[in-house]
Amino acid sequence: MPDFVGAVDQGTTSTRFMIFDHEGAEVAKFQLEHEQILPRAGWVEHNPIEIWTRTAAVIQTTLQRTGLHDTDLAALGVTNQRETTVVWNPRTGRPYYNAIVWQDTRTDRIAAALDQDERGQVIRDRTGLRPEAYFSGGKIQWILENVSGVREAVDRGEAVFGNTDTWTLWNLTGGVNGGVHITDVTNASRTMLMDLDTLDWDDELLSYFGIPRAMLPEIRPSADPSGYGTTARFGPLGGEVPITAILGDQQAATVGQVCFSPGEAKNTYGTGNFLLLNTGTDRVRSQSGLLTTVAYKFGDQPAVYALEGSIAVTGSAVQWLRDQLHIITSAGQSETLARQVADSGGVYFVPAFSGLFAPYWRADARGAIVGLSRYNTDAHLARATLEAICYQSRDVVEAMQRDSGVVLDVLKVDGGVTANDLCMQLQSDILGVPVSRPVVAETTALGAAYAAGLAVGYWKDTAELRAHWAESRRWNPAWNEERREKAYAGWKKAVTKAFDWTTD
Ligand code: ADP
Repeated sequence: MPDFVGAVDQGTTSTRFMIFDHEGAEVAKFQLEHEQILPRAGWVEHNPIEIWTRTAAVIQTTLQRTGLHDTDLAALGVTNQRETTVVWNPRTGRPYYNAIVWQDTRTDRIAAALDQDERGQVIRDRTGLRPEAYFSGGKIQWILENVSGVREAVDRGEAVFGNTDTWTLWNLTGGVNGGVHITDVTNASRTMLMDLDTLDWDDELLSYFGIPRAMLPEIRPSADPSGYGTTARFGPLGGEVPITAILGDQQAATVGQVCFSPGEAKNTYGTGNFLLLNTGTDRVRSQSGLLTTVAYKFGDQPAVYALEGSIAVTGSAVQWLRDQLHIITSAGQSETLARQVADSGGVYFVPAFSGLFAPYWRADARGAIVGLSRYNTDAHLARATLEAICYQSRDVVEAMQRDSGVVLDVLKVDGGVTANDLCMQLQSDILGVPVSRPVVAETTALGAAYAAGLAVGYWKDTAELRAHWAESRRWNPAWNEERREKAYAGWKKAVTKAFDWTTD
């Protein structure tokens, strides 16, 4: 058995390749960002060709820098930004349109129409989701209706759909030369097209969006001992490594944080924030604005489900301060700037750039900065941005506690924003519980590697993985109850000011 396991993490802002050893420790990592294409208000796209070129480049660079080869890898896992939609021609390898990213709101109208009759309830019951622009179904429909020739191409077998896991897998396994067209249950559970009980595409749901089944990938378990195929010999790995795991990024982070028992939860702070609570083999229906989703399915074992609180804009609000307002030059500087002041000076920032996701689900919301006085500075805005990340997380933690009765005694965190010490302290202050970050903060890639390694017997079982988890840092609440509740009440009021800004 080779010494290491690899993982491709095709994220929203960048693509990483990582190599892990038997202890789950990071051996190597390289990542490259790709362009965020913003053609008009509410639209967010990526170039799928750029994504694949960067994926190939990060793999090659990692191997070159470490001197490792394909033969050093026992297996490879793939994890990805979820919901982002690619439709391409498998004969030429060319996409018909840019990838429509999960944050893109152009299909609001498609989603709202579904919610006007009984179809909305069917979607809720069967998929665990709710009709929202966020999920892939409406995005595929938009491409079929707005890009000429695609519908006819489907009939000829010349147009297929995939999220970026499927796009990456197809390219890794050879592309036009025999690439496989496969996804896993976690990604499929984010399309509004899969029945959460049968774990198969559902013809009635497909009919709502006018999507032909022929263009959809085969749904497989998240870890599959028989594998989905091997990397192509002529591809970036230069040899045939079995690809044995696919997991959406948030589900991968749940595995990377070893949340294998019902009641265990993690919160990932990246472009957006995603809190997932393992509910075991039971599907728990939310009464509080959370989604029900597949956490993972390992081989023949039954699927494990999760309740999810998805927040669209957290780390990307920090990017907005950097790229649009230019009040900081790096994401890390948000901390230095925010530390110049002791509090946000009465300012609340509700970064509802893509509407508000959980637990509000208000597609009509847009960003709002409220409570301003002449006294306020860019430092207050930076602090309000970090606080907004934490208030939004408290909103979903409260929803999760209402739905599940599980009361968190500690919040396990990971993701890019957790490098921000002040933000994590504020999270603990605003939530009133300790916040804990593991040694390997790249839990998304780690989770994909774990699933891939389990499938080939590189790791024996989940108990072995659990033993790897170690805390690197813990933050304890410093605010008293009165300050916490007063500040949170202000946030709840601020959120209402963000409602009702779009009419379509
Ligand atoms: P994704 O997987 O969604 O691409 P990452 O986990 O790589 O996201 O995190 C990237 C996000 O984290 C970016 O939105 C960036 O603005 C934010 N970020 C990175 N470092 C910091 C920091 N020190 N403080 C605040 N935000 C940060």
